Amino acid sequence: MTRGPRLLLIGPPGAGKGTQAVRLAERYGIPAISTGDIFRFNVKNETELGLAAKAYMDAGDNVPDSLTNALIRDRLGESDAANGFLLDGYPRTTDQVRELDEYLAGNGTALDAVVELQADPEIVVERLRKRAVEQSRADDTDDVVRHRLEVYREQTEPLIGVYGSRDVLVPIDAIGSVDEVTDRIVSALTGRGLGTAA
Ligand code: AMP
Repeated sequence: MTRGPRLLLIGPPGAGKGTQAVRLAERYGIPAISTGDIFRFNVKNETELGLAAKAYMDAGDNVPDSLTNALIRDRLGESDAANGFLLDGYPRTTDQVRELDEYLAGNGTALDAVVELQADPEIVVERLRKRAVEQSRADDTDDVVRHRLEVYREQTEPLIGVYGSRDVLVPIDAIGSVDEVTDRIVSALTGRGLGTAA
């Protein structure tokens, strides 16, 4: 294909979405769009959006759709996303799926693949503990991590069924080295005729 793929990375917190997103974006020449990163940037810079989102993030709750949907529409509307993109952390709820579907359909497009990073909850909790030390993210404390996993199970996991029924789901074992997991993703996508080798 001449354009890059339109991808979504989904999986529990700590499965390595952010790490893989950066690598895949580079490989396919598409922007990695992480709502979590956009929110963190805004919190750090104390913007209006950041001030509104901070309490939800610190508690490990989803930021309300009223703030999230507009943000992602704006970002997907930027010129670099016209050639394909990789979404990380959005959509996270079935309401957000509807919102994204509507937006993409309005542009005559759809997601090419939804990469599901599968990882055992015990392993992801351990990874997040490590990240808490390395990056001192306010939402990586034990209680908040547990809550984020609950929020993931309740609100985000159902999306796997939704995308599974559309035949775009690509399940990937996320346990292994960063390179191994990237290789698994790239071969699975290549197998579906997506992306070209860089
Ligand atoms: P993440 O970096 O994806 O783990 O996101 C960190 C935090 O940002 C989440 O715990 C939420 O508070 C917020 N967030 C990120 N993406 C979304 C989204 N699509 N909808 C609602 N809240 C989000």
